[in-house]
Amino acid sequence: MANLSSVHSQLIEMGHQYYMPNYNPRNIVFAEGLGSRLRDIDGNEFIDLSSGIGVNCLGHQNPEIVAALTKQAEKLWHTSNIYFSEPPIQLARELVEHTFAEKVFFCNSGAEANEAAIKLARKFASEHYPPNKRTILTFEGSFHGRTIATMTATAQPKYQSGFGPLPGGFRYCPINNTDKLQELFDEEICAVLIEPIQGEGGVVPAEPKFLQEARRLCDEFDAILIYDEIQSGMGRTGKLLAYEWVDNAEPDVATIAKALGAGMPIGATLAGARLADVFSFGSHGSTYGGNPVCCAVARVVLEKITKKSFQSEVVKKGEYMFERLNGINNQYHIFKEIRGRGMMVGAQFLDDRNIAADVNEACLEAKVLILQAGPNVLRFLPAMTIEIDELALAFDRVGNVLKKFA
Ligand code: PLP
Repeated sequence: MANLSSVHSQLIEMGHQYYMPNYNPRNIVFAEGLGSRLRDIDGNEFIDLSSGIGVNCLGHQNPEIVAALTKQAEKLWHTSNIYFSEPPIQLARELVEHTFAEKVFFCNSGAEANEAAIKLARKFASEHYPPNKRTILTFEGSFHGRTIATMTATAQPKYQSGFGPLPGGFRYCPINNTDKLQELFDEEICAVLIEPIQGEGGVVPAEPKFLQEARRLCDEFDAILIYDEIQSGMGRTGKLLAYEWVDNAEPDVATIAKALGAGMPIGATLAGARLADVFSFGSHGSTYGGNPVCCAVARVVLEKITKKSFQSEVVKKGEYMFERLNGINNQYHIFKEIRGRGMMVGAQFLDDRNIAADVNEACLEAKVLILQAGPNVLRFLPAMTIEIDELALAFDRVGNVLKKFA
Protein backbone atom coordinates (compact mmCIF):
# COMPACT_ATOMS: atom_id res chain seq x y z
CA MET A 1 0.00 0.00 0.00
CA ALA A 2 1.30 3.39 -0.91
CA ASN A 3 1.41 6.48 1.32
CA LEU A 4 1.49 4.95 4.78
CA SER A 5 2.17 7.29 7.68
CA SER A 6 5.48 6.72 9.44
CA VAL A 7 3.72 5.27 12.54
CA HIS A 8 1.85 2.89 10.24
CA SER A 9 5.07 1.74 8.53
CA GLN A 10 6.88 1.38 11.85
CA LEU A 11 4.15 -0.82 13.30
CA ILE A 12 4.24 -3.04 10.23
CA GLU A 13 8.01 -3.33 10.51
CA MET A 14 7.69 -4.26 14.20
CA GLY A 15 5.04 -6.84 13.35
CA HIS A 16 7.47 -8.49 10.95
CA GLN A 17 10.28 -8.24 13.48
CA TYR A 18 8.44 -9.75 16.45
CA TYR A 19 5.92 -12.17 14.97
CA MET A 20 6.91 -15.61 13.79
CA PRO A 21 6.63 -15.45 10.02
CA ASN A 22 3.80 -17.99 9.69
CA TYR A 23 1.33 -15.36 8.43
CA ASN A 24 1.71 -13.00 5.56
CA PRO A 25 -0.33 -10.01 6.75
CA ARG A 26 -1.19 -7.20 4.37
CA ASN A 27 0.62 -3.93 4.94
CA ILE A 28 -2.20 -2.42 6.90
CA VAL A 29 -2.81 -1.87 10.61
CA PHE A 30 -6.46 -1.60 11.55
CA ALA A 31 -7.47 0.58 14.44
CA GLU A 32 -11.27 0.55 14.55
CA GLY A 33 -14.29 -1.20 13.18
CA LEU A 34 -17.93 -0.24 13.05
CA GLY A 35 -20.57 -2.39 11.38
CA SER A 36 -19.03 -3.52 8.10
CA ARG A 37 -16.46 -0.75 7.96
CA LEU A 38 -12.87 -0.96 9.16
CA ARG A 39 -10.54 1.96 9.56
CA ASP A 40 -6.75 1.78 9.53
CA ILE A 41 -4.57 3.87 11.81
CA ASP A 42 -4.23 6.56 9.12
CA GLY A 43 -8.03 6.90 8.97
CA ASN A 44 -8.59 5.10 5.64
CA GLU A 45 -11.93 3.33 5.54
CA PHE A 46 -12.59 -0.11 4.04
CA ILE A 47 -15.76 -2.12 3.46
CA ASP A 48 -15.33 -5.49 5.07
CA LEU A 49 -16.55 -8.52 3.08
CA SER A 50 -14.26 -10.86 5.01
CA SER A 51 -15.47 -10.44 8.62
CA GLY A 52 -12.23 -11.77 10.06
CA ILE A 53 -12.56 -15.00 8.02
CA GLY A 54 -16.22 -15.52 8.80
CA VAL A 55 -15.99 -14.53 12.46
CA ASN A 56 -17.44 -11.02 12.96
CA CYS A 57 -20.88 -12.25 11.95
CA LEU A 58 -22.72 -9.29 13.49
CA GLY A 59 -20.22 -6.71 12.27
CA HIS A 60 -17.73 -4.73 14.27
CA GLN A 61 -18.77 -3.21 17.59
CA ASN A 62 -22.30 -4.50 17.43
CA PRO A 63 -23.89 -2.58 20.32
CA GLU A 64 -25.74 -5.59 21.72
CA ILE A 65 -22.67 -7.78 21.91
CA VAL A 66 -20.57 -4.93 23.27
CA ALA A 67 -23.20 -4.50 26.00
CA ALA A 68 -23.31 -8.23 26.79
CA LEU A 69 -19.52 -8.39 26.90
CA THR A 70 -19.18 -5.32 29.09
CA LYS A 71 -21.88 -6.45 31.49
CA GLN A 72 -20.28 -9.86 31.92
CA ALA A 73 -16.74 -8.42 32.10
CA GLU A 74 -17.85 -6.30 35.03
CA LYS A 75 -19.15 -9.39 36.86
CA LEU A 76 -16.99 -12.44 36.25
CA TRP A 77 -14.28 -13.32 33.71
CA HIS A 78 -13.13 -16.80 34.45
CA THR A 79 -13.66 -19.62 36.88
CA SER A 80 -12.13 -22.64 35.10
CA ASN A 81 -14.21 -25.78 34.73
CA ILE A 82 -13.65 -26.76 38.34
CA TYR A 83 -16.74 -24.64 39.02
CA PHE A 84 -19.93 -23.69 37.24
CA SER A 85 -20.83 -20.22 36.04
CA GLU A 86 -24.10 -19.17 34.46
CA PRO A 87 -23.26 -18.02 30.87
CA PRO A 88 -21.85 -21.36 29.63
CA ILE A 89 -24.69 -23.31 31.26
CA GLN A 90 -27.28 -21.12 29.56
CA LEU A 91 -25.42 -21.19 26.23
CA ALA A 92 -25.18 -24.99 26.33
CA ARG A 93 -28.90 -25.21 27.03
CA GLU A 94 -29.70 -22.86 24.17
CA LEU A 95 -27.44 -24.74 21.74
CA VAL A 96 -29.16 -27.99 22.70
CA GLU A 97 -32.59 -26.41 22.24
CA HIS A 98 -31.73 -25.16 18.77
CA THR A 99 -29.87 -28.19 17.39
CA PHE A 100 -29.81 -31.98 17.20
CA ALA A 101 -27.39 -32.00 20.15
CA GLU A 102 -28.01 -33.28 23.65
CA LYS A 103 -24.74 -32.13 25.22
CA VAL A 104 -22.01 -29.62 24.50
CA PHE A 105 -18.26 -29.32 25.11
CA PHE A 106 -16.82 -25.78 25.03
CA CYS A 107 -13.33 -24.82 23.91
CA ASN A 108 -11.60 -21.82 22.35
CA SER A 109 -11.22 -22.43 18.63
CA GLY A 110 -12.28 -24.46 15.63
CA ALA A 111 -9.28 -26.76 15.72
CA GLU A 112 -9.98 -27.59 19.35
CA ALA A 113 -13.65 -28.27 18.62
CA ASN A 114 -12.58 -30.73 15.90
CA GLU A 115 -9.88 -32.23 18.11
CA ALA A 116 -12.59 -32.93 20.70
CA ALA A 117 -14.82 -34.47 18.01
CA ILE A 118 -11.99 -36.74 16.88
CA LYS A 119 -11.30 -37.81 20.46
CA LEU A 120 -15.01 -38.36 21.03
CA ALA A 121 -15.23 -40.63 17.98
CA ARG A 122 -12.13 -42.59 18.97
CA LYS A 123 -13.25 -42.99 22.58
CA PHE A 124 -16.67 -44.18 21.48
CA ALA A 125 -15.03 -46.66 19.12
CA SER A 126 -12.65 -47.88 21.83
CA GLU A 127 -15.62 -48.61 24.10
CA HIS A 128 -17.75 -50.40 21.50
CA TYR A 129 -15.63 -51.89 18.75
CA PRO A 130 -12.46 -53.93 18.12
CA PRO A 131 -9.12 -52.05 17.84
CA ASN A 132 -9.10 -52.07 14.03
CA LYS A 133 -12.14 -49.74 13.95
CA ARG A 134 -10.46 -46.38 14.64
CA THR A 135 -10.04 -44.80 11.19
CA ILE A 136 -11.56 -41.41 10.43
CA LEU A 137 -12.56 -40.65 6.87
CA THR A 138 -12.02 -37.07 5.71
CA PHE A 139 -12.12 -35.34 2.33
CA GLU A 140 -9.67 -33.92 -0.17
CA GLY A 141 -9.74 -30.14 -0.08
CA SER A 142 -10.97 -30.07 3.51
CA PHE A 143 -9.70 -27.84 6.28
CA HIS A 144 -10.11 -28.77 9.92
CA GLY A 145 -7.41 -26.85 11.77
CA ARG A 146 -3.71 -26.67 12.57
CA THR A 147 -3.19 -29.00 15.51
CA ILE A 148 -1.37 -32.20 14.64
CA ALA A 149 -4.58 -34.28 14.55
CA THR A 150 -6.78 -31.72 12.78
CA MET A 151 -4.01 -30.98 10.27
CA THR A 152 -3.85 -34.71 9.55
CA ALA A 153 -7.62 -34.72 9.13
CA THR A 154 -7.15 -31.83 6.69
CA ALA A 155 -6.57 -33.81 3.52
CA GLN A 156 -4.31 -31.25 1.84
CA PRO A 157 -0.57 -31.99 1.63
CA LYS A 158 0.33 -28.28 1.66
CA TYR A 159 -0.79 -27.98 5.29
CA GLN A 160 0.94 -31.19 6.39
CA SER A 161 4.31 -30.87 4.71
CA GLY A 162 7.23 -30.78 7.15
CA PHE A 163 5.21 -31.72 10.21
CA GLY A 164 5.50 -35.50 10.16
CA PRO A 165 5.30 -38.03 11.57
CA LEU A 166 1.57 -37.50 11.38
CA PRO A 167 -0.81 -39.50 13.58
CA GLY A 168 -2.28 -42.57 11.93
CA GLY A 169 -5.89 -43.54 11.46
CA PHE A 170 -7.06 -41.13 8.76
CA ARG A 171 -8.25 -42.02 5.28
CA TYR A 172 -8.97 -39.50 2.52
CA CYS A 173 -11.75 -39.50 -0.06
CA PRO A 174 -12.41 -37.09 -2.95
CA ILE A 175 -15.35 -34.80 -2.15
CA ASN A 176 -18.65 -35.50 -3.95
CA ASN A 177 -17.40 -38.80 -5.36
CA THR A 178 -20.00 -41.28 -4.15
CA ASP A 179 -18.37 -44.31 -5.80
CA LYS A 180 -15.08 -43.58 -4.07
CA LEU A 181 -16.88 -43.01 -0.76
CA GLN A 182 -18.49 -46.43 -1.02
CA GLU A 183 -15.19 -48.01 -2.05
CA LEU A 184 -13.25 -46.45 0.86
CA PHE A 185 -15.85 -47.27 3.51
CA ASP A 186 -15.34 -50.46 5.48
CA GLU A 187 -15.42 -51.87 9.02
CA GLU A 188 -12.28 -49.90 9.97
CA ILE A 189 -14.05 -46.55 9.65
CA CYS A 190 -15.22 -45.27 13.03
CA ALA A 191 -16.15 -41.75 11.89
CA VAL A 192 -16.59 -39.47 8.91
CA LEU A 193 -15.59 -35.82 9.31
CA ILE A 194 -16.89 -33.49 6.62
CA GLU A 195 -17.59 -29.79 6.04
CA PRO A 196 -21.11 -29.37 4.57
CA ILE A 197 -19.48 -26.59 2.53
CA GLN A 198 -15.70 -26.68 2.26
CA GLY A 199 -14.43 -23.19 3.07
CA GLU A 200 -10.66 -22.92 2.76
CA GLY A 201 -10.73 -25.61 0.07
CA GLY A 202 -12.53 -23.31 -2.38
CA VAL A 203 -16.12 -22.87 -1.16
CA VAL A 204 -17.17 -26.31 -2.38
CA PRO A 205 -20.60 -27.49 -1.20
CA ALA A 206 -20.95 -31.18 -0.45
CA GLU A 207 -23.80 -32.35 -2.68
CA PRO A 208 -26.96 -33.30 -0.75
CA LYS A 209 -26.85 -36.86 -2.09
CA PHE A 210 -23.21 -37.13 -1.00
CA LEU A 211 -24.06 -36.14 2.59
CA GLN A 212 -27.04 -38.50 2.55
CA GLU A 213 -24.82 -41.33 1.33
CA ALA A 214 -22.26 -40.52 4.06
CA ARG A 215 -25.09 -40.76 6.60
CA ARG A 216 -26.31 -44.04 5.13
CA LEU A 217 -22.85 -45.58 5.13
CA CYS A 218 -22.24 -44.42 8.71
CA ASP A 219 -25.44 -46.20 9.71
CA GLU A 220 -24.54 -49.32 7.75
CA PHE A 221 -21.03 -49.54 9.22
CA ASP A 222 -21.77 -48.21 12.72
CA ALA A 223 -19.67 -45.10 12.22
CA ILE A 224 -20.18 -41.58 13.50
CA LEU A 225 -21.01 -38.69 11.22
CA ILE A 226 -19.28 -35.44 12.24
CA TYR A 227 -19.97 -32.14 10.52
CA ASP A 228 -17.36 -29.42 10.70
CA GLU A 229 -19.67 -26.38 10.64
CA ILE A 230 -16.98 -24.00 11.84
CA GLN A 231 -17.20 -21.86 8.72
CA SER A 232 -20.55 -22.89 7.24
CA GLY A 233 -22.52 -22.87 10.49
CA MET A 234 -23.96 -20.23 12.82
CA GLY A 235 -26.46 -18.83 10.36
CA ARG A 236 -24.03 -18.19 7.51
CA THR A 237 -26.15 -20.03 4.94
CA GLY A 238 -29.53 -18.90 6.29
CA LYS A 239 -29.97 -21.85 8.65
CA LEU A 240 -28.27 -22.33 12.00
CA LEU A 241 -26.19 -25.20 10.59
CA ALA A 242 -25.65 -25.61 6.84
CA TYR A 243 -26.48 -29.34 6.81
CA GLU A 244 -30.06 -28.42 7.78
CA TRP A 245 -30.72 -27.67 4.10
CA VAL A 246 -30.35 -31.41 3.44
CA ASP A 247 -32.96 -33.99 4.45
CA ASN A 248 -31.96 -37.27 6.06
CA ALA A 249 -28.39 -36.26 6.80
CA GLU A 250 -28.39 -35.46 10.51
CA PRO A 251 -24.99 -35.80 12.17
CA ASP A 252 -24.00 -37.46 15.44
CA VAL A 253 -21.57 -34.65 16.22
CA ALA A 254 -21.04 -31.11 14.87
CA THR A 255 -18.37 -28.55 15.55
CA ILE A 256 -18.84 -24.79 15.60
CA ALA A 257 -16.52 -21.85 16.33
CA LYS A 258 -15.75 -18.65 14.34
CA ALA A 259 -19.14 -16.82 14.19
CA LEU A 260 -20.25 -18.41 17.48
CA GLY A 261 -18.26 -15.78 19.36
CA ALA A 262 -18.57 -13.02 16.74
CA GLY A 263 -14.91 -12.18 17.44
CA MET A 264 -14.49 -13.63 20.93
CA PRO A 265 -12.56 -16.91 20.97
CA ILE A 266 -14.96 -19.79 21.51
CA GLY A 267 -15.60 -23.16 19.92
CA ALA A 268 -18.01 -25.94 20.73
CA THR A 269 -18.46 -29.62 20.01
CA LEU A 270 -22.11 -30.62 19.87
CA ALA A 271 -22.99 -34.24 20.52
CA GLY A 272 -26.23 -36.06 19.77
CA ALA A 273 -27.72 -38.75 21.97
CA ARG A 274 -25.28 -41.57 21.18
CA LEU A 275 -22.18 -39.51 21.90
CA ALA A 276 -23.40 -37.19 24.64
CA ASP A 277 -21.91 -39.11 27.56
CA VAL A 278 -18.80 -40.60 25.99
CA PHE A 279 -16.33 -38.24 27.67
CA SER A 280 -16.02 -39.30 31.28
CA PHE A 281 -14.47 -37.30 34.09
CA GLY A 282 -10.89 -36.42 33.19
CA SER A 283 -11.03 -37.65 29.59
CA HIS A 284 -10.93 -34.22 27.98
CA GLY A 285 -10.74 -30.57 28.95
CA SER A 286 -9.70 -27.02 28.25
CA THR A 287 -8.81 -24.41 30.87
CA TYR A 288 -10.63 -21.56 29.15
CA GLY A 289 -13.45 -23.64 27.65
CA GLY A 290 -16.81 -22.04 28.45
CA ASN A 291 -15.28 -18.70 29.41
CA PRO A 292 -18.15 -16.61 30.83
CA VAL A 293 -17.36 -13.50 28.79
CA CYS A 294 -17.17 -15.42 25.49
CA CYS A 295 -20.33 -17.32 26.36
CA ALA A 296 -22.23 -14.14 27.23
CA VAL A 297 -21.38 -12.83 23.75
CA ALA A 298 -22.23 -16.13 22.06
CA ARG A 299 -25.66 -16.15 23.71
CA VAL A 300 -26.50 -12.86 21.99
CA VAL A 301 -25.20 -14.19 18.67
CA LEU A 302 -27.29 -17.34 18.97
CA GLU A 303 -30.41 -15.44 19.94
CA LYS A 304 -30.07 -13.20 16.87
CA ILE A 305 -29.14 -15.75 14.26
CA THR A 306 -31.87 -18.19 15.21
CA LYS A 307 -34.59 -15.64 14.42
CA LYS A 308 -36.46 -16.55 11.25
CA SER A 309 -36.43 -12.89 10.15
CA PHE A 310 -32.62 -12.80 10.49
CA GLN A 311 -32.26 -16.02 8.53
CA SER A 312 -34.45 -14.82 5.69
CA GLU A 313 -32.36 -11.63 5.49
CA VAL A 314 -29.25 -13.80 5.15
CA VAL A 315 -30.89 -15.70 2.30
CA LYS A 316 -31.88 -12.43 0.62
CA LYS A 317 -28.44 -10.86 0.97
CA GLY A 318 -26.85 -14.10 -0.25
CA GLU A 319 -29.05 -14.00 -3.36
CA TYR A 320 -27.97 -10.41 -3.92
CA MET A 321 -24.29 -11.45 -3.68
CA PHE A 322 -24.83 -14.18 -6.29
CA GLU A 323 -26.72 -11.74 -8.49
CA ARG A 324 -23.91 -9.18 -8.37
CA LEU A 325 -21.20 -11.75 -9.05
CA ASN A 326 -23.22 -13.22 -11.92
CA GLY A 327 -23.67 -9.70 -13.27
CA ILE A 328 -19.91 -9.09 -13.13
CA ASN A 329 -19.36 -12.41 -14.87
CA ASN A 330 -21.86 -11.61 -17.62
CA GLN A 331 -19.86 -8.45 -18.31
CA TYR A 332 -16.29 -9.74 -18.07
CA HIS A 333 -16.55 -13.55 -18.48
CA ILE A 334 -13.98 -14.11 -15.79
CA PHE A 335 -15.45 -16.85 -13.58
CA LYS A 336 -15.89 -20.52 -14.25
CA GLU A 337 -18.30 -20.98 -11.36
CA ILE A 338 -19.95 -18.98 -8.59
CA ARG A 339 -20.97 -21.26 -5.75
CA GLY A 340 -21.79 -21.58 -2.07
CA ARG A 341 -24.93 -20.91 -0.12
CA GLY A 342 -26.41 -17.90 1.66
CA MET A 343 -23.66 -15.46 2.55
CA MET A 344 -20.83 -17.96 2.03
CA VAL A 345 -19.95 -17.38 -1.59
CA GLY A 346 -16.98 -18.37 -3.74
CA ALA A 347 -16.13 -17.39 -7.29
CA GLN A 348 -13.68 -19.59 -9.17
CA PHE A 349 -11.73 -18.04 -12.04
CA LEU A 350 -11.72 -19.59 -15.48
CA ASP A 351 -8.77 -21.57 -16.80
CA ASP A 352 -6.78 -21.98 -13.57
CA ARG A 353 -5.62 -18.39 -13.87
CA ASN A 354 -4.61 -18.38 -10.20
CA ILE A 355 -5.14 -14.63 -9.92
CA ALA A 356 -7.02 -14.62 -6.62
CA ALA A 357 -4.08 -13.13 -4.70
CA ASP A 358 -3.62 -10.31 -7.23
CA VAL A 359 -7.35 -9.54 -7.29
CA ASN A 360 -7.44 -9.61 -3.50
CA GLU A 361 -4.56 -7.10 -3.37
CA ALA A 362 -6.25 -4.86 -5.95
CA CYS A 363 -9.50 -4.98 -3.92
CA LEU A 364 -7.55 -3.80 -0.89
CA GLU A 365 -6.31 -0.84 -2.93
CA ALA A 366 -9.97 -0.22 -3.86
CA LYS A 367 -10.82 -0.25 -0.13
CA VAL A 368 -12.79 -3.45 0.01
CA LEU A 369 -11.68 -6.47 2.00
CA ILE A 370 -12.34 -9.86 0.45
CA LEU A 371 -10.85 -13.34 0.92
CA GLN A 372 -9.31 -16.05 -1.19
CA ALA A 373 -9.90 -19.77 -0.93
CA GLY A 374 -6.82 -21.11 -2.65
CA PRO A 375 -5.07 -19.48 -5.62
CA ASN A 376 -8.03 -19.47 -8.00
CA VAL A 377 -11.11 -18.71 -5.90
CA LEU A 378 -12.36 -15.46 -4.39
CA ARG A 379 -14.32 -15.91 -1.19
CA PHE A 380 -16.89 -13.57 0.30
CA LEU A 381 -17.98 -13.89 3.95
CA PRO A 382 -19.38 -10.50 4.95
CA ALA A 383 -20.98 -9.82 8.30
CA MET A 384 -24.53 -11.11 8.13
CA THR A 385 -25.69 -7.68 9.34
CA ILE A 386 -24.21 -5.81 6.38
CA GLU A 387 -26.74 -3.54 4.66
CA ILE A 388 -27.67 -4.15 1.01
CA ASP A 389 -26.45 -0.69 -0.01
CA GLU A 390 -23.06 -1.44 1.53
CA LEU A 391 -22.94 -4.74 -0.31
CA ALA A 392 -23.88 -2.81 -3.46
CA LEU A 393 -21.01 -0.35 -3.01
CA ALA A 394 -18.56 -3.14 -2.19
CA PHE A 395 -19.51 -5.12 -5.31
CA ASP A 396 -19.26 -1.96 -7.43
CA ARG A 397 -15.66 -1.75 -6.26
CA VAL A 398 -15.03 -5.46 -6.79
CA GLY A 399 -16.51 -5.15 -10.29
CA ASN A 400 -14.20 -2.26 -11.14
CA VAL A 401 -11.23 -4.29 -9.97
CA LEU A 402 -12.26 -7.37 -11.95
CA LYS A 403 -12.69 -5.31 -15.11
CA LYS A 404 -8.90 -4.84 -15.07
CA PHE A 405 -8.35 -8.60 -14.94
CA ALA A 406 -10.85 -9.49 -17.68
N1 PLP B 1 -12.67 -25.97 10.35
C1 PLP B 1 -13.01 -25.13 9.37
C2 PLP B 1 -14.07 -25.53 8.39
C3 PLP B 1 -12.39 -23.89 9.27
O1 PLP B 1 -12.73 -23.05 8.27
C4 PLP B 1 -11.40 -23.53 10.21
C5 PLP B 1 -10.69 -22.26 10.11
O2 PLP B 1 -10.62 -21.63 9.08
C6 PLP B 1 -11.08 -24.45 11.23
C7 PLP B 1 -11.74 -25.66 11.26
C8 PLP B 1 -10.05 -24.12 12.25
O3 PLP B 1 -10.53 -23.15 13.12
P1 PLP B 1 -9.50 -22.33 14.05
O4 PLP B 1 -8.63 -21.53 13.16
O5 PLP B 1 -10.40 -21.50 14.93
O6 PLP B 1 -8.73 -23.33 14.83
